[in-house]
Amino acid sequence: MNELKKSGHQKIEWVSNHMKLLNTIQKSGDSLNGLRVAMSIHLEAKTAYLAITLKRLGADVVVTGSNPLSTQDDVAEALKDFDIAVHAKRTTNEEEYLSFLHTVLDYEPDLILDDGADLTVLVHTERKEILKNLKGVSEETTTGVRRLENLEKSGVLSVPAIAVNNAKMKSMFDNRYGTGQSTLDSIMRNTNLLVAGKHVLVAGYGWCGRGIAMRAHGLGAKVMVTEVDPIKAVEAIMDGFEVGRIEDLAPKADFIITATGMRDVLSKEAIENLKDGVVLANAGHFNVEIPMDKIEKMATQSYEIRQNVTCYKIAGKNIYVIGLGRLVNLAAADGHPVEIMDISFALQALSITYLAKNYNKLSNKVYEYPEELDKLVAKLKLDSMGIAIDTLTKEQEDYLNEF
Ligand code: NAD
Ligand code: SAH
Repeated sequence: MNELKKSGHQKIEWVSNHMKLLNTIQKSGDSLNGLRVAMSIHLEAKTAYLAITLKRLGADVVVTGSNPLSTQDDVAEALKDFDIAVHAKRTTNEEEYLSFLHTVLDYEPDLILDDGADLTVLVHTERKEILKNLKGVSEETTTGVRRLENLEKSGVLSVPAIAVNNAKMKSMFDNRYGTGQSTLDSIMRNTNLLVAGKHVLVAGYGWCGRGIAMRAHGLGAKVMVTEVDPIKAVEAIMDGFEVGRIEDLAPKADFIITATGMRDVLSKEAIENLKDGVVLANAGHFNVEIPMDKIEKMATQSYEIRQNVTCYKIAGKNIYVIGLGRLVNLAAADGHPVEIMDISFALQALSITYLAKNYNKLSNKVYEYPEELDKLVAKLKLDSMGIAIDTLTKEQEDYLNEF
């Protein structure tokens, strides 16, 4: 076995020992009966183990990445040994990334497991012939769900879709604790800089932003938050953070972390006034939150100063960007911790088996995640930790129904 493949197998073995929910689901007896599942999701070891789980449940699986930079080539190589078709490579070439999406669609999948809706949007635009065989879509992330809802609003959505992101067991843990830990982990391992005592500006106080702010605070940073939603802005204030306009707060920041799902979160004015040596990192979708196009135009010079860190010279200052403005925890690290992805991918595996069983009873719309499956995953998680919880007595149930 070559070194690349060996390293991929080691990574998969490590996660397989810690993904207890997926191991339980593999033994559930659910059958995907040879249905073909096309996956577009960050291709690292945890994702590989989800693909292996679907395969063991009886699916035909074909996999690609969901971001040009998050594919780990060693894992992609090793996954081929599990009788899974893999078309993915870490690349900075967007066209090459797109060509892999097209290749997995050539397999004419029955089901799509998407992260960010790139595959789903393609089958509703350039690859409509794929809709003939397609029975449903399961979507992993916030921005992907927004894109699916827009397809539905435009009357274009032609298959049932499940918003896995909106499961309580997803957003409360993956988006908050997963993004919180993995974003700070990536920033620290890529810069080797101290966080304690620094000003960290978090743009967006949704699920991801809350997690990032919480972890930066825990590391001793002075955390500042920007929001456009007044309720979330008040929440950030009550959580103890300084809140204000980005133009006012950005000049003080040593680290700026975006987590909004929006574009152009830093204006040209904000970029001009950044502190010398500021580190910019994006934890949200796509490379447009930190406007990389503006930064590249404004820079007189740019070069890789450390692995995954680019130095842009703007107005005589050094502005550092990690992972080319793509989501920092995946483009420049290993993504969320194993136990978090075990929960998210248990939700995904159950979403795929649910679609396989129910697609012919469902309409062409975006469905919230089925509540009974959300609770089942919570129960599996508690079981895996050996924790029992109370249940209501008959008297307590009755009490609930009293006037
Ligand atoms: P969310 O909707 O809960 O939060 C986003 C917040 O950003 C909202 O409160 C919104 O009001 C705010 N916002 C929007 N525009 C803003 C602006 N210009 N300035 C300041 N705040 C602004 O979404 P979420 O679940 O936190 O996800 C955020 C993004 O992160 C999405 O793109 C999602 O796909 C992505 N995501 C990334 C990871 C990861 O691993 N890095 C994990 C989960 C989600
Ligand atoms: N294709 C988009 C996807 C947004 S990523 C993009 O590249 O911009 C956000 C999703 O990545 C989250 O919802 C989370 O569930 C998923 N994710 C985080 N860590 C991961 C990991 N280690 N492996 C696979 N997916 C991960």
